Amino acid sequence: MTAPAAQRLVHRTAHLRLRLTRRQTRRCYGLLRSAGDVWAWLLDSNRQRHQQGEPTISNYQALCRELTRRGQFGELSTVGTRSVLRRYSDAWFQAAKRRKAGQQDAGFPRRKRALVPVRCYHGTFSIQGRRVRLPVAKDRPALWVRLARPLPYPPEQVRAVTLLADGGRLWLAVTAAIPIQQHDLDPRRVAGVDLGIIHPYAVVTQQAGLLISGRAIRAESYLHRADQEARQAKAARRAPKRGQGGSRRWRRHRARVRRVEARHRRRVYHAQHQAAKQVIAFALQQRVGTLLVGDPTGITSRDAGRVQNWRLRQWRRTHLVQALRDKAELAGMVVRLVDERGTSSTCPACHQRVPKPTGRRFRCPHCNLQGHRDLVGAANIAAKAGGGPTSVGVPTLVEHRRAGIVPARRDRRRHLDDQRRRRSCLASGHPPGDPASGGCRSLCVPDLTRGEDHATPPTRANVA
Ligand SMILES: [Zn+2]
Repeated sequence: MTAPAAQRLVHRTAHLRLRLTRRQTRRCYGLLRSAGDVWAWLLDSNRQRHQQGEPTISNYQALCRELTRRGQFGELSTVGTRSVLRRYSDAWFQAAKRRKAGQQDAGFPRRKRALVPVRCYHGTFSIQGRRVRLPVAKDRPALWVRLARPLPYPPEQVRAVTLLADGGRLWLAVTAAIPIQQHDLDPRRVAGVDLGIIHPYAVVTQQAGLLISGRAIRAESYLHRADQEARQAKAARRAPKRGQGGSRRWRRHRARVRRVEARHRRRVYHAQHQAAKQVIAFALQQRVGTLLVGDPTGITSRDAGRVQNWRLRQWRRTHLVQALRDKAELAGMVVRLVDERGTSSTCPACHQRVPKPTGRRFRCPHCNLQGHRDLVGAANIAAKAGGGPTSVGVPTLVEHRRAGIVPARRDRRRHLDDQRRRRSCLASGHPPGDPASGGCRSLCVPDLTRGEDHATPPTRANVA
């Protein structure tokens, strides 16, 4: 096995929500706003230099010298301010590198942002259980924040923390250096992984198969889309014209859309992480050393119809691959992307082309092999291991797992969706027409034939 001489480390980041008092919230937003001021100062001073024909300052050390001349930004500590300089410098050099490589649309940083994340590296913050002290300017009182869940890493492994705002909430991104786990794996054992929407991962080894259901993710996506569409339709007439400032209601609507979008993204990502975790557990159990993953890149480049296009773009396959890659690397496995063309329409037994199955069942008309379509795809991907054993068939022993949480029956979005479709609603928790509770409110569609005084009083739920 690998030599234990130098323990290899990988960096992993977890986003933890902050649980704060009002005062702490105000101070945290103050820090982010000050960081935004630093960002704006960098953009402005460089634009001024450009207009006066002077060279742009993008080097980190040079920016630090400029900073000492400029002085303090709000409550921001020197460490926090410098992290913004680092961010700017990195973005600038990244763009310069891309320009050099011929990518002419690579943009240098030029957009001002109200809130910019503040990063603090090891030694400038301290952790006590769930409490973290963030550095602030010297003359200000210490700022302690509380994490909403326990730290997923041992405190001594934490290398940096980043304060940031996303979807109207404050988060602390905690980065830790974690040693790679030592497992007794066989590098010649290969598992094929087929990525999909119905099943985020379908995994096949020589002995066994694993199918992970994406039902929860799909249900969440469906409800989210229906909810956002209804919200947009309702708010469309309040949208400001071009060049016009929005109303307060419009701004509130925009904030709500962002918040809901962030929540949806979190739920999908969480489910995908769960699914990837199960794949790794399965692979460890099978002592798999190499994961071959069907590369879905380019799948969105062709038009597949309105609904399927939308589904493919909602799939978040990059995250799906990345989650698996991260976890595999930590477990000491190798992940390789292979071309997945033709893997769902080739028979793994007789290697003949088969018409693409419409449902989930795969049946070969030449040799009568039958199996699950996604597992067949995974078996074909596993067979692409160059030089290795290629006798991967469709296994008979298949585990089924779920990932994510199906939206609860009492989810507000589900209630509203039922209402829009004039379905009886289970969300309110009492049967329709129950006189004791006044029945489900969602069934009370305003009766237009009656006089005005009998119409249902407008509630939050039934105003169109
Ligand atoms: Zn066949």
